[in-house]
Amino acid sequence: MLDKAEVGATFLLNSPFGPDEVWDRLPQEVQETIIRKKLKFYVIDGYGVAKVAGMGGRVNTVMQTCFFALANVLPREEAIEQIKYAIKKTYGKRGDAVVQKNFAAVDASIEHLHEVKYPDHITSTFKRLPAVWGDVPDFVERVTGMIIAGKGDLLPVSALPVDGTFPTGTAKYEKRSIALEIPIWDPKICIQCGLCALVCPHAAIRSKAYPQQALTGRPETFQAMDYKGKELEAHLFTIQVAPDDCTGCGVCVDVCPAKSKEQVKHKAINMEPKLDHLKAEQENFDYFLKIAELDRSLAKMNTVKGSQLLEPLFEYSGACAGCGETPYVKLMSQLFGDRLIIGNATGCSSIYGGNLPTTPYTTNAAGYGPTWSNSLFEDTAEFGLGFRLAFDEKQALAANLCRELASQIGDDLVGELIANAPQQYTEDEIRAQRARVKALGERLAGVDSPQARLLAGVAEALVRRSVWILGGDGWAYDIGFGGLDHVLASGRDVNVLVMDTGVYSNTGGQASKATPRGAVAKFAAAGKPNRKKDLGMIAASYGGVYVGQIAMGANPAQTIKVFLEAESYRGPSLILAYSHCIAHGIEMSTAMSHQKDVVRSGFWPLYRYDPRLSHDGGRPFQLDSRKPNMSFKELAASEARFAMLARTNPAAAEKLFEMAQRDIDDQWHYYEQLSGVQREVSEQAGKKEGVQS
Ligand code: SF4
Ligand code: SF4
Ligand code: MG
Repeated sequence: MLDKAEVGATFLLNSPFGPDEVWDRLPQEVQETIIRKKLKFYVIDGYGVAKVAGMGGRVNTVMQTCFFALANVLPREEAIEQIKYAIKKTYGKRGDAVVQKNFAAVDASIEHLHEVKYPDHITSTFKRLPAVWGDVPDFVERVTGMIIAGKGDLLPVSALPVDGTFPTGTAKYEKRSIALEIPIWDPKICIQCGLCALVCPHAAIRSKAYPQQALTGRPETFQAMDYKGKELEAHLFTIQVAPDDCTGCGVCVDVCPAKSKEQVKHKAINMEPKLDHLKAEQENFDYFLKIAELDRSLAKMNTVKGSQLLEPLFEYSGACAGCGETPYVKLMSQLFGDRLIIGNATGCSSIYGGNLPTTPYTTNAAGYGPTWSNSLFEDTAEFGLGFRLAFDEKQALAANLCRELASQIGDDLVGELIANAPQQYTEDEIRAQRARVKALGERLAGVDSPQARLLAGVAEALVRRSVWILGGDGWAYDIGFGGLDHVLASGRDVNVLVMDTGVYSNTGGQASKATPRGAVAKFAAAGKPNRKKDLGMIAASYGGVYVGQIAMGANPAQTIKVFLEAESYRGPSLILAYSHCIAHGIEMSTAMSHQKDVVRSGFWPLYRYDPRLSHDGGRPFQLDSRKPNMSFKELAASEARFAMLARTNPAAAEKLFEMAQRDIDDQWHYYEQLSGVQREVSEQAGKKEGVQS
């Protein structure tokens, strides 16, 4: 930033260190520039002020006030008056409490703004860290690092990949270190539920199970405990934070169920000031990463705990702190990551999924990982279906070539390769097929023919791929709906994950057909007048589409079940995943727990529609959540997207909320009928009356 400063300019820094301490916390290069350019240097603890004012981590009001106090574009008093006027105008709809908090922050900002007196020589003992550091690949050093440093425009065109392909797994080199507080683990209390790792939107807290001997040479502060559970005897267990990748969102601590009996509010993980732990946790995390991953077939992946012993292949994305979408993507990468092929819609998930210059999708130690690409908003489903068709074609071609060349390759191997191509449900089956493909490659090396070369090029297609189509509600309910409908009706083996935030989140919260009735959104300022589309039931009406509606924070076990069932179903599957979002106007640190209310109110019922169950006469639709026992009004009061309307137009809110309640009641009644609850009730009634229903 100081590159841009004129001589004598004013420099305002948001720092936890006060005017006496901050100077020595600056790197030598920064001190040098400040001295050379004779800058007027001011400091404020913006986060401290915001926190005391009850604004959490929102520092915009604080920094804006300081800017006007220093910039002299208006007389100070007048500037403050104008800021307060703007606050009232912007936040008035959110209620007086929000306005008062902002006012308090404005007043406190001036009190806590200090000028820093500095010496005329450099006193710092350290240099600035480069944009990327440590053991980084050449490309990251030369290209990615430059873009991260904000100097991408200095790169020559020749530095960029000719075909536009960027290397994956590069988000780990972008150490943003933005958290003020990070979770610190207390193994004495931990019950090893795995929830913290499951919900972390950034894969910045992880669990691992490993044999005792892996601890040789561990850092002094590295913590471990005995693994609880018969499936992994003589193993140890560790929960470890990635201190530079954690955003400090607090979601993991909020969901941690293990509380100390002696110490009030002390849990098995607790947010603590990062700077007190940074160095130790950096070392611990490096060490943690070096411990070998657990053999995938040993993890009980159908449980929360087991799923979190699998390596995430989607990590440290730049999504908002506390994002409600990324935990689903991360889970998907843990369950199927090394054979995932993803067609991604435009929207938040395409931005955090592949935001230049870094990529959160990564590979495992064997070099396998998700393949990811983003197409247009309007053709994502077709784009993803194309992956499926291409792989099916390649598989058929590979099988045919195997048959043709059987005499050279060996009948046994060919027989096994072809017989197992449609199998591969478990980790062991997939691994065995990979071994067969490897053996095939070795045998083909000795065969010199065009057919053999062709087969070598497509042999990998004999290993089952997991094709996923990802996007938000703006894509699935609106812009890409026609294509999605077509793909669901195609009967092909694809999985669709819709991360439903109920608005176009990436472009600032415009209403979509998934926006619930009564919610205030852009283009729905007076509250969305009509009902949310029931995409799940549209898909289920085909009879041959697997549909699962999930909310990780409300029922994590059901979430995992749905992912596994959807993936194992050899036809189209649709997962509708409730995704909280900053656009909902909720406290993000407790957003995962808030999902319990979202389900409890019947606003987002959990269910599975599995066509396999109807094959043997069963009922395909199963409700996984209980009858609502909380009113919609109560839920609406806890989300600003609804509460806003109640304040600005109470009469409209009253009417829309009443209708929204009726939507919930009707939908629940309908779902109960589908699940057979109603039929059982009437059958029982029929029996009592001695009539056959
Ligand atoms: Fe992940 Fe947030 Fe916990 Fe950090 S505070 S480890 S980002 S859930
Ligand atoms: Fe342990 Fe708490 Fe994490 Fe569960 S959520 S594994 S109890 S630290
Ligand atoms: Mg959305």
